Amino acid sequence: MLHIYNTATKQKEPFKPHNPELVTMYNCGLTVYDRPHIGNLRAYTMADVARRSLNFLGYKVKQVQNFTDVGHLTFTDEQKLKLDKNIEITDSETGIDRMEKAAKKTGKTVWEVAQYYIDEAMIDFADMNFIEPEVRPRATNPDEMAEQIALIKILLKKGYAYITTSAIYFDTSKSENYGRLTGQKLDEKIIGAREDVERDPTKKNPFDFRLWQLDQKDHAMQWDFEYEGQRLRGFPGWHVECSAMIHRHLGEPIDIHTGGVDHISVHHTNEIAQSEAAYGAPFVNYWMHNEFISVDGRKMGKSLGNAYNLSEIKEKRFDAMDLRYFYLTANFRTSQNFTWEALEGAKSARKRLLSIVVSLQSAIDNHTLTTNPSRAEPRDLEGLQTLIQYQDFKSRVEDSFNMPEALAIVWQTLDSELSDEIKLGLISEFDKILGLKLLEKVEEKEISQDLKDQIQELIKQRVEAKIEKNYALSDQLREKAKELGFELEDTKEGETTYKFVK
Ligand code: AMP
Ligand code: ZN
Repeated sequence: MLHIYNTATKQKEPFKPHNPELVTMYNCGLTVYDRPHIGNLRAYTMADVARRSLNFLGYKVKQVQNFTDVGHLTFTDEQKLKLDKNIEITDSETGIDRMEKAAKKTGKTVWEVAQYYIDEAMIDFADMNFIEPEVRPRATNPDEMAEQIALIKILLKKGYAYITTSAIYFDTSKSENYGRLTGQKLDEKIIGAREDVERDPTKKNPFDFRLWQLDQKDHAMQWDFEYEGQRLRGFPGWHVECSAMIHRHLGEPIDIHTGGVDHISVHHTNEIAQSEAAYGAPFVNYWMHNEFISVDGRKMGKSLGNAYNLSEIKEKRFDAMDLRYFYLTANFRTSQNFTWEALEGAKSARKRLLSIVVSLQSAIDNHTLTTNPSRAEPRDLEGLQTLIQYQDFKSRVEDSFNMPEALAIVWQTLDSELSDEIKLGLISEFDKILGLKLLEKVEEKEISQDLKDQIQELIKQRVEAKIEKNYALSDQLREKAKELGFELEDTKEGETTYKFVK
């Protein structure tokens, strides 16, 4: 049975979906002011692995992952560094708007910046082999914006929100059990509450947060908002969009909500408070948070120049699948240190896997062709599921998506005494979760059946040539195979196998 480590309870819990017919999952999406960096990609790899695992375990899933394309006031990298060093700084309400900053830098409008980086992100996500979520809403979409405004109005009506001269705030003193996700008591949190150092005097309680930011000149993205005769033009606070999208696309409670650990204490805490207050139902059953990526043992940050993105990784001749393999070598709940050497290690391991898969396939093709057709007996899924290797792999997946251990089972399977066909069958099943495109080379070959027929014909001729001791012809046939992109190999058992070398 699947167990998921739940941040809310700090333990692994048996997974019981709210509706067994359809598991619902929401992933806090990317803020589209830049290309996703390797930290963001780790967060979405975790989401993708969870989604694939649920499918593997037989669940139907509805996954929603948004794009935050509204600019929000957040800490600059420089401010974050100061925070780390416990230097008090002004709060995020006086910070920068990353989208507006990117627009100024590039001479584009904020709308163009958003579209540009959404397009880039979609390319990277496809490269990372992420299964496309069922819904990918954008915060500025008119329907999504209407839902956000409706949510804020419910909160105003129910008395959970108040209007000041600068914003509409959520009143955390009205919220039951505010901050429970962090496991910290509010007064403990206050001591560490640096986000609030320069406090807005119109705020009632230190943790009250902005649901809606009133008209700010220089802010390009603004929407009309009327409430009881008041004109409150402005833009939403960041937390609002996730609550509104979850309500609109999934409904409460959802089964799984994911994000990085940085979101626990503020963003997700505030999502819980406003959703439960507005909709009067529990919000999320299982909270999954990935730990952070560091680089060369140091914090990653744009100002440090080490927040690498996928194109920088590919420029160094790595494949997106090398990065994916790298992520799978660590549990999502532990921080992971990115180094180029570690990525090199992931690359060679992945290549070794690929070449084993390709040679398994060649051997299978060959057995079918030559002497031993019985070894080519195809295995059905039910047969595979009874095998200990399948069970072991599944149990690692069910242990809160433990990918490093699942990978270890993959290697053990390849080292085992199982037949080539069964090994290949298992790897093809496992790759439904790993998502490493391990069968791609094999599939490539399968697409070109014509080529396969040609090579099999060459092997046949070569077997005959060897029986006739016509070694010149046999060598010629080997050369011909090479031209087609295959290496012929003679095994100790006297069979000829081939390897795809192009
Ligand atoms: P953002 O666009 O800043 O909201 O980030 C998108 C996702 O990436 C969120 O789930 C973040 O928690 C996550 N994230 C940001 N930085 C890192 C990092 N260094 N390591 C892992 N995840 C990160
Ligand atoms: Zn969110």
